[in-house]
Amino acid sequence: MRIAVPAETDPTEARVAATPETVKKLLGLGAEVVVESGAGIKSAIRDADYAAAGATIAPDAASAIAGADIILRVRRPSGAELSAAKPGAAVIAIMDPYGHVDALEELASTGVDAFAVELLPRITRAQAMDVLSSQANLAGYRAVIDAAAEYGRAVPMMMTAAGTVPAAKVFVMGVGVAGLQAIATARRLGAIVTATDVRPATEEQVESLGAKFIAVEDEEFKQAETAGGYAKEMSAEYQDKQKALTAAHIAKQDIVITTALIPGRPAPVLITEAMVASMLPGSVIVDLAVERGGNCVLSKPGETVITDNGVKIIGHLNVAGRLAATASALYAKNLLAFVEILVDKANKALAINWNDEIVKATLLTKDGALVHPNFQKSA
Ligand code: NAD
Repeated sequence: MRIAVPAETDPTEARVAATPETVKKLLGLGAEVVVESGAGIKSAIRDADYAAAGATIAPDAASAIAGADIILRVRRPSGAELSAAKPGAAVIAIMDPYGHVDALEELASTGVDAFAVELLPRITRAQAMDVLSSQANLAGYRAVIDAAAEYGRAVPMMMTAAGTVPAAKVFVMGVGVAGLQAIATARRLGAIVTATDVRPATEEQVESLGAKFIAVEDEEFKQAETAGGYAKEMSAEYQDKQKALTAAHIAKQDIVITTALIPGRPAPVLITEAMVASMLPGSVIVDLAVERGGNCVLSKPGETVITDNGVKIIGHLNVAGRLAATASALYAKNLLAFVEILVDKANKALAINWNDEIVKATLLTKDGALVHPNFQKSA
């Protein structure tokens, strides 16, 4: 069994899908591991570190991939990048499938079995593989660090001989995995933190982190959580009430971190132009939902917008990738846990149980076809 780790081809992607630690564990499964030269360098991992862990270093992607049974990537490879892959190879990555059916069909045409790890069911058995959680947690942390770096004032309260510096007020909108880590990080920096969400379960979580919870707690709010633990798209009426409640609050905030998402839908708009206009100069908004349309109407993907009234709106892409070494370490562990369920440890071979609910939820392509029910062209 051969496992390949090609380098990422998107120049903005600094993460890598295996680390020396996971290479050792993959070898322990009876695999031979081949890493493309330079694959880890942006995550501070040298070829020599992989080699010391027992990997073979290949000079290019094609030679890394050739003959591989499993190909580990961070992002979806193109069909051309898989031209050297053997049919039936398992390609495991964050496939970004929504809205990209053509790219998925191109992937299918290569004959690989492509798995989208972001589609993992959020069940206990899959927790160690949960890439959404591992990366969102880091994004939540980094959002606060980025905001603090852009904020022209200190975050904690400081009592000095030269005067007292007030603590910054931080408002976190959306309290999933990223939002909870944003709250915890802002609290560690000494900010006064408030937070909002539409799922009732978040109230206790916010309070347990020492922050204050703010939300429109009507009948719709009580029903806002789906069986899968995610938020529903709220009605226009609820959204108007939410905007009325948060408008006055946002005007008094120094830093706002937005993380609100709805699976398979555009991100909800939580911050309007008028709300941004109400904020003081020097305030900072970090929009972690910018890749999905944004929670703030003025955020721009990959840009920092400075408004006429001096508010900075940060729209970094791939925020977890801004902490590439840590993000790679956790992502690689997630993929290792996923690979473990695809192999037969006794026979040291790929042995996929097509009826496993984790396999069924994540499998996009097989035998030349796009097989996932959610991504059919007619769907
Ligand atoms: P997510 O990234 O889909 O959304 C982020 C947050 O935005 C969510 O808390 C959501 O409720 C909130 N949101 C959506 N619309 C909103 C609106 N209009 N206004 C304000 N907030 C809004 O969520 P996530 O981080 O993936 O977490 C979703 C849930 O899944 C959480 O309950 C989390 O604890 C749970 N979870 C479970 C597991 C597991 O059991 N294995 C793993 C990870 C997360």
